Amino acid sequence: MHLLEVVPGLAMLPLGISNAYLWHDPGGVTLIDTGRPGSAPAIKAAMQDLGLPREELRRIVLIRFHRDHAGSAAELGPTGSARRSSPERTTRRSCTAPRQSHRSPWRSLERLAAMDIDVACFGHGEPIIGAAHQALRRVTNPLG
Ligand SMILES: [Zn+2]
Repeated sequence: MHLLEVVPGLAMLPLGISNAYLWHDPGGVTLIDTGRPGSAPAIKAAMQDLGLPREELRRIVLIRFHRDHAGSAAELGPTGSARRSSPERTTRRSCTAPRQSHRSPWRSLERLAAMDIDVACFGHGEPIIGAAHQALRRVTNPLG
């Protein structure tokens, strides 16, 4: 598996149709999305490649409750003190991303573009590393 270090402590795991991310800091490991059903072995292998013990997995954050994002959640957690977080709960606590809505994806994109963010990671496709807000603003306001 090709792991991409997005920033120190954050690795992207391309899982075919979607991506998962492993964030690790002194508080443990956070897995963001779990991919389709059957992705657990690849995620466990990625953790091993990164030197992250399985018991350090503390949180699983699912950005969507779709099969391609949450399909392996049951295979991976919870173990020990791991818990699952809904995206709303996570965004309220950490303000890492605006709440997404399937009814207004354009509004969500505009809210992201309004932030001064350097890195943007997505469930599908490549992350934007460096001045991400500029790339997002070019999409939401191409004439601006
Ligand atoms: Zn998806």
